[in-house]
Amino acid sequence: MTDARLDIAARVLGLLDRGAFVATYKYAVLLGLLDLCLERSLDSGAPPDFVTTRQLAGKVVELYWRQVGSFSEDVRILRQNNGKQARILEEILAFQRECREPGITLWRARHQHAVRFERLLDEVEWTLVKMPLPKLQRVGTRNDAFLYAIAWDDAVAEGRVRRYQRGAGDQFDNRIVFQPGVAGALVALNGLLRPFIHREWCALVASLNGLPDSLLDDFLFGTPRTSFPEALRRDLVELQRGACFYCDDELRSATEIDHFIPWARFPTDAVENLVAAHRGCNGHKRDHLAAVPHLEHWWERFRPKSERAASLGRLAAAHSWPTRAEEVRGVGRSLYRRTPDGAPLWMKGKDFQLADERMIGRVLQT
Ligand SMILES: [Zn+2]
Repeated sequence: MTDARLDIAARVLGLLDRGAFVATYKYAVLLGLLDLCLERSLDSGAPPDFVTTRQLAGKVVELYWRQVGSFSEDVRILRQNNGKQARILEEILAFQRECREPGITLWRARHQHAVRFERLLDEVEWTLVKMPLPKLQRVGTRNDAFLYAIAWDDAVAEGRVRRYQRGAGDQFDNRIVFQPGVAGALVALNGLLRPFIHREWCALVASLNGLPDSLLDDFLFGTPRTSFPEALRRDLVELQRGACFYCDDELRSATEIDHFIPWARFPTDAVENLVAAHRGCNGHKRDHLAAVPHLEHWWERFRPKSERAASLGRLAAAHSWPTRAEEVRGVGRSLYRRTPDGAPLWMKGKDFQLADERMIGRVLQT
């Protein structure tokens, strides 16, 4: 790792360590920025130069969506702020209640209540603009904009942002522009930063709610593995013509749905990231990236106008399941492009193949 990256890593860790924030927003903002860098990678695999406050609001809603669910009989909703509940969580909760469908998924809520969802995004975006974004990089009274530059500070007038949200031509510049080298460093540090941010986030929620950390990780960030409907599993198996995605042998019993991009590296349940596999194959693959032959097989899902892409789309529609081809493709491209030569990629059983950048590049070009 280069010195510049280590320097950025050290400064991000320092920023997480500072006690200036009493809510969990800083974690949500950092994770949101990291996710957007992965999802919005360019064709070359390079991360974007900037993201927008609107995109970040979408990611922050995604991060908190399940966290506002009831935690247990006694605790109900976890506090994520010192004092009254953090405003973004209140807004999400109010929206969920208006949907009148307990446990509704974000995907469903967004599609069935599209207009109201945009209003939720307005509120979340405004809160981010006013508070965490201008404050995150401040040390004491000094602004140390080492991660990103923005064209406003915390004195930003609400009217200006609201006019921009209504599309009324005011010049609110909604870009969060990464400093040179930062977006690339965030992506390269994904494997280090993500678990670290999770741990810090857990610790703060634990202390705000007087609960042990150990109970929280799964609730806050775990995969909702149990929630794959049986019919979706069946259709995925059928799409793969009854064969395991990895070893190509017939799937009889003990079929599992695996996240091709491991959940620990990028949490997404979108249909493009789901493959049916033997329990044994899935168990061996764990949190590893799969080897190039598997990548090649998976990448066919993103070929424009391919039959496979169309079938996946139909499957998602039939089960009202999220489909996010562009984003999942962006994440795959970004993670594989950043895999250095010689890194172990999972092949089968206990076998690994060493990564070869040229081979990976060839697959991703198709
Ligand atoms: Zn298998």
